[in-house]
Amino acid sequence: MRNRMIAGNWKMNKTYVEGVELAQGLADQLADGTGDVDVVVCPPTVDLKGVSEVIEQSEAPFALGAQNVYFEESGAFTGETAPNMLEAVGATYCIIGHSERRGYFGETDEDINKKAKVLMAHGIVPISCCGEPLEVREAGTHVDFVVNQIKADTEGLEISDPSKYVVAYEPIWAIGTGKTATADDAQEVCGAIRKTLSEVFGQQTADGIRVLYGGSAKPENVAGFLEKEDVDGALVGGASLKADSFSAMVKAA
Ligand code: PEP
Repeated sequence: MRNRMIAGNWKMNKTYVEGVELAQGLADQLADGTGDVDVVVCPPTVDLKGVSEVIEQSEAPFALGAQNVYFEESGAFTGETAPNMLEAVGATYCIIGHSERRGYFGETDEDINKKAKVLMAHGIVPISCCGEPLEVREAGTHVDFVVNQIKADTEGLEISDPSKYVVAYEPIWAIGTGKTATADDAQEVCGAIRKTLSEVFGQQTADGIRVLYGGSAKPENVAGFLEKEDVDGALVGGASLKADSFSAMVKAA
């Protein structure tokens, strides 16, 4: 019912030329197709156009995503990127609410909710991130913490096609640290996310929304996460920066 998804978040890595090379390498590695797995790469903003051209010219079997968007349509917002600008370069996905944006740039659930709405109005699929910091995990209140994020991030959203909204559960203590959550940890929270989505949108919609796990996911461990009922894929940071490792994860999915 839900296609699996492997999404790569390149973060602030890869210059334009390096990004085009990585995208081309990935297109070569995945030339035989990705089966039912939806693959998304999210380069830095200045690389989007170059990666988009690789996708177009090589008919690469993956989609383009951005790492951030601003929730206004245009205007005096120096340094920001509007949704129609993403649309114009062929981005069909956009990460929102990554813990690095929440932590370093003060992004709030209210901002994330506005970003989801504006993206969906432009036909761009949000990959909406949530996840708890270490102290919350240690206090044992991680499920409530994430459920509250989901409720705030989805407030007032209308989802007519559940394949067009994606959630990524990324426990902050597992991002870029080499510490992964166990597959059971991921299932506990991803299951609670789906239950919350069913309360907000109804069971049928919740059953169609992809919930990804992210946090030190790599070729060796991705299959274990995907065995879990409510884990539909992975949002991948470090391991998405090499065509070999990222394509191995796609193949493992
Ligand atoms: C991420 O930042 O989205 C992420 C999951 O990073 P990493 O895979 O490097 O932990």
